[in-house]
Amino acid sequence: MKESETMTEAKQYVASIQQMIREKDAGQTEFIQAVDELLPTVTAFLEEHPEYVEQNILGVLVEPERIIQFRVPWQDDKGNWQVNRGYRIQYNSALGPYKGGLRFHPSVNLSILKFLAFEQIFKNSLTGLPIGGGKGGSDFDPKGKSDAEIMRFCQSFMTELSKHIGPNIDVPAGDIGVGGREIGYLFGAYKRLKQYDAGVLTGKPLDFWGSKGRTEATGYGLVYFVKHLLANDQDSFEGKEVFVSGSGNVAIYAIEKAQELGAKVTTCSDSSGFIYDPAGIDLELLKEIKEVKRERLTEYANQRSSAEYFAGESVWNLDKPVDIALPCATQNEIHKEQASLLVKNGVKIVGEGANMPCTIDAVEVLLEKGVYYCPGKAANAGGVAVSALEMSQNSQRLSWTKEDVDQKLDDIMLAIYETCRDTAKNYGEEKNLMMGANVAGFGKVAKAMLAQGLV
Ligand code: GLU
Repeated sequence: MKESETMTEAKQYVASIQQMIREKDAGQTEFIQAVDELLPTVTAFLEEHPEYVEQNILGVLVEPERIIQFRVPWQDDKGNWQVNRGYRIQYNSALGPYKGGLRFHPSVNLSILKFLAFEQIFKNSLTGLPIGGGKGGSDFDPKGKSDAEIMRFCQSFMTELSKHIGPNIDVPAGDIGVGGREIGYLFGAYKRLKQYDAGVLTGKPLDFWGSKGRTEATGYGLVYFVKHLLANDQDSFEGKEVFVSGSGNVAIYAIEKAQELGAKVTTCSDSSGFIYDPAGIDLELLKEIKEVKRERLTEYANQRSSAEYFAGESVWNLDKPVDIALPCATQNEIHKEQASLLVKNGVKIVGEGANMPCTIDAVEVLLEKGVYYCPGKAANAGGVAVSALEMSQNSQRLSWTKEDVDQKLDDIMLAIYETCRDTAKNYGEEKNLMMGANVAGFGKVAKAMLAQGLV
């Protein structure tokens, strides 16, 4: 029998949408990867809901509602004119205004932003908060730029972006290359062009309408998610050997919370290499180097005798025993071979602080070997969740306490974990948190889309 004859209608439908994307968006490798990761996992759900197949929900869903692309001219410190490309993908507004970060990195292109915006739809859905999915950014490289250059770039970027966003339309925030400093400049530019509207951006500094706990939220949320997963097996972070990649906002606060809960974190990385510090990462030193001085990690190794720096190497090639891996750098950092190495070294949990850090075949290895794989759209949803809490505070013109925000974040991460666990179980795939996350995130969006007349 040919394979197509054994396929259910839902399976054939899913495969046809994957094929369509492959043809229409040929070359958009990261976007195709994100679609390929999600679609097959919702097949069982579609089998139960033929009305979604009849109405071609996936065909509508994979097409962004709107893509805005624009030029960003800016003047460098020497007076030369530079030009970058700016984007905003307004992917899906079924659950609320578009919400998602801005990424400034030389690798940024349409494929990467479409994958990120696509993921964001389901992540935002999982938070249970009223936010749709979007993402934007630029191929601008902030590395080595002066403060004044960053400011001029942000002002030019916002000159165009301001035409398309608003507190009830689309609310950008940070991502790689965009932190409090950039959000401050972007906010100032928006204010001059339009009006004072605090709710137009999140991740704002605390001095003007930012939320306490937003800076820490993605990293803390990741650790809370894993904490609840461990607790479900009567276990905890106490005494666990943890590898973290990255040294940005997500990594730093994941390290902080994991250490607070009794784990030993021995690694972190940047784009030039990684640190292995068997004595445990010195967080104060790491913060000083990355957050205050904005220096490279080589400086960490220079100042700490217990640390070794591996230039040009990936953390995920480190051949040492590990209990929990938290990739917090960027997409596609863990490949199949590296997943196998983690398994060989005893990893029990892989929690994604970054978006799509594991390739599809790496995920297959982890699931096959019974490792708990916590997909980014669930495990790193704490950042955007606290962004949504920032929107609430801005609307109320109130500022909640740090404890209040932190408790809400922990509750949200518990709810996301339980949703993923229970959904996976309902579909007979216990332990498959990816399936649970995808089905739960997708199901809610699909229902809202249908109720709104598939628009
Ligand atoms: N860029 C973050 C993410 O990937 C946060 C987005 C936001 O706060 O809107 O979820």
